[in-house]
Amino acid sequence: MKKEKIILTGDRPTGKLHIGHFVGSLKRRVELQNSGEFDKIFIMIADAQALTDNVDNPEKVRQNIIEVALDYLACGIDPTKSTIFIQSQIAELCELSFYYMNLVTVSRLQRNPTVKTEIQMRNFESSIPVGFFTYPISQAADITAFKATTVPVGEDQKPMLEQTNEIVRRFNHIYGDTLVEPEILLPDNAACLRLPGTDGKAKMSKSLGNCIYLSESADELQKKIKSMYTDPDHLRVQDPGKIEGNTVFTYLDAFCHNEHFERYLNEYPNLDELKAHYQRGGLGDMKVKKFLGAIMEEQLGPIRERRKEFEKDIPAIYEMLKKGCDTAREAAADTLADVRRAMKINYFEDADLIAEQAKRFQMGE
Ligand code: ATP
Ligand code: MG
Repeated sequence: MKKEKIILTGDRPTGKLHIGHFVGSLKRRVELQNSGEFDKIFIMIADAQALTDNVDNPEKVRQNIIEVALDYLACGIDPTKSTIFIQSQIAELCELSFYYMNLVTVSRLQRNPTVKTEIQMRNFESSIPVGFFTYPISQAADITAFKATTVPVGEDQKPMLEQTNEIVRRFNHIYGDTLVEPEILLPDNAACLRLPGTDGKAKMSKSLGNCIYLSESADELQKKIKSMYTDPDHLRVQDPGKIEGNTVFTYLDAFCHNEHFERYLNEYPNLDELKAHYQRGGLGDMKVKKFLGAIMEEQLGPIRERRKEFEKDIPAIYEMLKKGCDTAREAAADTLADVRRAMKINYFEDADLIAEQAKRFQMGE
C-alpha cells in the first residue's frame, strides 16, 4: 500500500496571526493544500499548548481561537480540503503525551534550544511550569497522533521535530513499528525562516509585541512600516546604509518580486540594484519603506477583505471547527489504539491474554 502523505501543523491562539506566520508557514500550507499532493491535512489551533505559558489568562486563549480560525480562512485554508481543529478537544493527545514522557529525559528537554530561549523570554528561569517544560513532548504527540509525514513550520520548530523523531524511533524500537517519523518542511527563502520583528529583534512573535498582523488595517499597516527599525547609523539620505540586520530589507527579501519594481518603483530593475544604491548612499529610508508598504498592501489587502467576509458568520466558523475536531478525534483515536496495542495495555481486546491467564490459573500455577 502506498504510504499516505499527511500534513500536521498549527499555531498557538495567543493572538492574531502575523506576517511571520504567513511567510514561515501559512503561505506554504495553502500551496500544499491546493497542490492536491496530500491525502490529509490537519491544522491545529494549539490552545492547550498556549495555556502552558498563559495559565492565568484563559480568556486570552479563548478569545483568540476565532481570530486564528479567521486568519486561516482569510489566507485560503479551505475546510473542505484541510481539517482545522482545536487541540484541547482531542483528549487522545494527552494520553499519548503521558506515554511519551517515559521516553524522554529531563536533560534532553533542558538541551532543547527553542525551549531554552523561550524560558528566558518569559522569565521562567527559576520557576518553569512542568507543562511548559514538557511541551516538546506534547508536540510529538500532536504530530504522531495524525501519522504526519510532513510538518511545514518556521525554523524555531526544528528542535521540536528532532525531539519528535527521537521519540518515534525509541517507541518503535521498544514496542515495534507503530509511529511515523515526520519530516520538517522549512521555507525555501532564507528571510522567511525566522522573520524578525518590526523592532529588529530576532523573531516576530506575538509575545514580543513586534508584529505586523495579517488583519492590520491599511493605515495601521503603513504606520507600522514607517516606524520600522532600519540602520540606526543611516542618518542622512546621502550616507551609505547597511543592509544586514536592516529589517526593511529583510522584509523585502521575504515579500518582494521583480514585478513589484515594474509596478511601484520602476527606476530599479530588481532588489539587488535597490540594495546597492542604499549601500552606496543617496537612498532614503522613507522611499524604501514606501515601496515595502505598497508590496505589503498588495498582499495583505485581499486577505483583510476576505477576513471581513468570514467575520459576517461567526457561528458557521465554530460549526466548522466542531466538525474538524470530530474528524481529528477519530484519526487520533486510531493511532492511540495502535499505541495501546503496541504497549500491551489493550487488556480487554486481547482474547489470547485472557484465555492464557485463565489456563495458567486453572493449572494452579
Ligand atoms: P508565541 O509568541 O505565542 O509563541 P508565535 O508568534 O511564536 O507566538 P507560534 O504560534 O508559536 O507563534 O508559531 C506558529 C508557527 O509560525 C510555527 O510554525 C512557527 O515556526 C511559525 N512562526 C512564528 N513566528 C515566526 C517568524 N517570525 N518567522 C517565521 N515563522 C514563524
Ligand atoms: Mg512561538
